[in-house]
Amino acid sequence: MSCEIDIAGLVKRFGGNTVLNGIDLCLKPGERVAVIGPSGTGKSTLLRCLNFLDPPDEGRITIGDLSVDAARAGKADMLALRRRTGFVFQNYALFANKTARDNIMEGLTTVRNWPKPKAEERAREILQQIGLGDRGDSYPSALSGGQQQRVGIGRAMALDAELMLFDEPTSALDPEWVGEVLDLIRRIADGRQTMLIVTHEMQFAREIADRIVFMEGGRIVEQGPPAQIFGNARDERTRAFLRRVG
Ligand code: ADP
Ligand code: MG
Repeated sequence: MSCEIDIAGLVKRFGGNTVLNGIDLCLKPGERVAVIGPSGTGKSTLLRCLNFLDPPDEGRITIGDLSVDAARAGKADMLALRRRTGFVFQNYALFANKTARDNIMEGLTTVRNWPKPKAEERAREILQQIGLGDRGDSYPSALSGGQQQRVGIGRAMALDAELMLFDEPTSALDPEWVGEVLDLIRRIADGRQTMLIVTHEMQFAREIADRIVFMEGGRIVEQGPPAQIFGNARDERTRAFLRRVG
């Protein structure tokens, strides 16, 4: 099967620091890929480059029939990529002055230009799906960490994006809220949503991912099915990392 998402030769520098050093990655339709690796390795930057939260310096990003050359990309390309990706942040990144419902509607009315009633209807559906059907009027400060992250995920789900990007979605949560957030992500994964998820939850990655990508130093060191990476990694760097976190 061909790539639905094709990342080719992605390079990102911050000043003189090359943080992504030629990333190539192909995701088939419905494929769920977990990215693991030491901190400071470029995992967040990779995700952020894919929708131009950090504009990449070189490489090509293809999502379905949209293909963007990083070196020549303009504002229209950036917006087109954002329309096709949903992003879930580590720290939720909700608007504190907007209700849960308005946070979920935000992308629909701004990035998608949906009329408000249509966006409201969609937000109502999403609130049900994330188990917060009765909390649409609540502001983030009135919600638990787990509920806030479910809103963060709901906001990305609302976009019905071809690619969902999760950047360590549970690492800012108190332990008591991790389970409910992982359960929601598991449901999304079960629906065969194409996704890239950066996580330090190794057991979870093993359960939901079709493929594990191990990154170090801005490069993909090794990738393969969970059983291979967790049971029989070839590269010593992968094995050393897994010993440290396992
Ligand atoms: P990871 O998510 O794997 O922990 P990051 O992608 O956050 O790694 O960071 C990779 C490297 O890029 C780190 O050395 C970090 O300091 C650097 N970096 C990330 N964002 C910026 C930025 N906005 N400006 C300068 N350096 C950055
Ligand atoms: Mg990170």
